Amino acid sequence: MKNIDKRSTILIVDDVPDNIRLLGSILDGEYQVMFATGGQEAMVCAVAELPDLILLDVMMPGIDGFTVCAWLRDNEHTSNIPVIIVTAMHDIDAETRGFASGAVDFLTKPVNPPAVRARITAQLALKRQREELEKANAQLRELAEFDVLTGLPNRKLFQDRLQQAVVMGERNQGIFALMFVDLDRFKWVNDTLGHDAGDTLLIEVAQRMKSVVRKSDTVARLGGDEFTVILTDMQHDSMAELVAHKILEQLATPFTLKGQEIAISGSVGIALFPGDGTTTLELTKNADSAMYQAKEAGRNTFRFFSQELNRLASRRMNLEGEMRQACQKNEFFLDYQPKVKSTTGQIIGMEALVRWDHPREGILFPKQFIPLAEGTGLIVPIGSWVLRTACRDAACWADKGYPDLKLAVNLSALQFREGDKLLNLVEEILQETGFPARNLELEITESMMMTNTEQTASTLWKLRDLGVAIALDDFGTGYSSLALLKRLPVQILKIDRSFVNDMQPGSNNAAFISAIISMAKQLGLHVVVEGVETAEQLEVTTSQGGNDVQGFFFCPPLGRAAFLELLHGRIPLGGRAGVPRL
Ligand code: C2E
Ligand code: CA
Ligand code: CA
Repeated sequence: MKNIDKRSTILIVDDVPDNIRLLGSILDGEYQVMFATGGQEAMVCAVAELPDLILLDVMMPGIDGFTVCAWLRDNEHTSNIPVIIVTAMHDIDAETRGFASGAVDFLTKPVNPPAVRARITAQLALKRQREELEKANAQLRELAEFDVLTGLPNRKLFQDRLQQAVVMGERNQGIFALMFVDLDRFKWVNDTLGHDAGDTLLIEVAQRMKSVVRKSDTVARLGGDEFTVILTDMQHDSMAELVAHKILEQLATPFTLKGQEIAISGSVGIALFPGDGTTTLELTKNADSAMYQAKEAGRNTFRFFSQELNRLASRRMNLEGEMRQACQKNEFFLDYQPKVKSTTGQIIGMEALVRWDHPREGILFPKQFIPLAEGTGLIVPIGSWVLRTACRDAACWADKGYPDLKLAVNLSALQFREGDKLLNLVEEILQETGFPARNLELEITESMMMTNTEQTASTLWKLRDLGVAIALDDFGTGYSSLALLKRLPVQILKIDRSFVNDMQPGSNNAAFISAIISMAKQLGLHVVVEGVETAEQLEVTTSQGGNDVQGFFFCPPLGRAAFLELLHGRIPLGGRAGVPRL
C-alpha cells in the first residue's frame, strides 16, 4: 500500500461539481486530491496547502483562471507550483493567454483520462528535477564562497566582504583593518608530516584565528596557508595591534599533529582603511606587502603598512621589553609631592609618584608607561617595588625626626585584583621597613571600586583592619555612588585636579568643589584637594574650611633628597607668601 503522505497532492479548481467529480475520479488512488470551486478559494487553498500541482479551470464566475494563475506566479510561496489550464473548448486565444499567465500546460474538455495522467506525471517529474537542481545550485554557491577544508569564507566571499567594508567605511567614515596572515612553517609540516597533517593544521589554525576576533569580523582563507582578517568597527588602530598579538600568540601555541607537538608561527601584515588605501586593491596590495616586511623581519611578528604605525608599535614593544628589566636595573625612582594643611602651611604628608629613568628616552612620567605596564601586567611587580621603596624612604624620614608624615601610595586595579596577595605584600613591607600602618594611605580610583565590588570590599576591609587608610583618588571623574562610599572603609577623598583646573570663584566647578567638601564632611571623610596651582584656586578650596591641599602652588613632586631638604626647611615651600592671608 502506498503511503498516503508520500503521494503528490493535486488541487482541482472548477466551478462545476461534475467536472471536479470527473477529474477527481481520474486521479483518485494515485494522488491526494483537493478541490476548490472558485478563483478566490483556489488562491487561499494553494497558499495554505501548497499542492504539488494545480488543474485550473479558466471559465469561472468571479475571478477567472488566468487571473488566478498570474497571481499564483507572482506569489513567492506558490510561484513554483505547476499549473495546468483546463478549458471547455479548443481555443487558440485561451491557450496563448494561459501560457502568458504562467501555466505550464494546457488540457481541453472533455478530458481524455490517459492524457490527463500523462501530462500530470510529466509536470510532476519536471518539478522534482527543478527542485533537485536548485539544491545542487545552493551547494555550488556554498562551494563557490566557502573553503571546503576549513569552512572559512574563500577568496571570492572575502573580496565581497572587503568591498562591503570599504563601502561601509566610506559611509560611516570609520576605520577598519585588513590583515594578511601567513604561516611560517606550513610547507615544512606538509613535506615532513604529510598532507593530511597539513590539512589538520589548517583546520585548527582557522578555528584558533576565529576565536580571537568578534563574530562581526571576517576570517578568510585565500588558499594554501594564506589567511586574511577584516576587522571592522575599530575604535583605534592599536586594536589591530592587539588582535595581531593574539593571532601570533595562538599560532605560537604548539599544535598536536599525528601525536607530535609541532611549533609553527605566523607573519602578519596590516593595512588600515582609509590611511593605507581606500580601494580593495590598494588595501590588499599593502597588507600583502606589510606581511612580507613581517617575514623579512624574522617571522613570528606583525608589521603595519604605515611606517609611522610601525614606529609606534615597535616603540611600545621595545618599551615593554625594557620595562621587564627596568626593575632589576634600578631604573625606576620615586618623586614625592608634599601634602600641605591649607590653614597652617604645614607639611603633613606626601604622595609617592613613580618615574622611569629610561636609558635612551630620558625620564618618563607615569602617563608614558603606566598604561603599558597595566596592559602587560608589569604594574604588579612595579607597584610592589613602589610600595616597598616608598615605605623605606618614609621610615628613614621618620628616623630623621618626621615620624608623623602620612605616606600616600597609588595602587593599580591589577594589584587590587590580587586580593590576599596584596594584603600579604602590604603586611610584609610594613614589617620589613618598620613603617607604621597608621601612616600609610593607599590611593585607589573610583572605577576600581565599582568593579567586582564584593571582592574589592573584602580586601579594603582587611587593609583597614591592618590600620591602613584608603583614599579615593581622582574623585569626581568616575561614577561613585555615595551609598557605596558609606559601605566601604574609605577615609579620604582626593578631589580630581580637573575641577580645580578651570575654577574661578563663583563658577560651576567652584560650586561642585564646595558641595563635595561639605558632603564629604557629613560622611566623616577627610578631603584632599589636588592640583592647586594658584592662590585663587586655593582660596575657593578652603572656603569650606580647612582641607589638605596638594599642588604646584605649594610644591611640585621632588626627588627623595630634595624632599628631605624641603622637610628640613632648606628648600622653601612655594606659595607660602600667599598663605598668611588665610
Ligand atoms: P595622581 O595620583 O592623580 O597623581 C597626581 C599627579 O598630578 C602627579 O602626576 C602630579 O605630578 C600631578 N600634579 C600635582 N600637582 C599638580 C598641579 O598643581 N597641577 C598639575 N597640572 N598637576 C599636578 P604624575 O606624577 O605624572 O602622575 C600621574 C598619575 O600616574 C598619577 O595621578 C597616578 O594615577 C599615576 N601614578 C603615579 N605613580 C604611580 C604608581 O606608583 N603606581 C600607580 N599605579 N600609578 C601611579
Ligand atoms: Ca594619586
Ligand atoms: Ca589624583
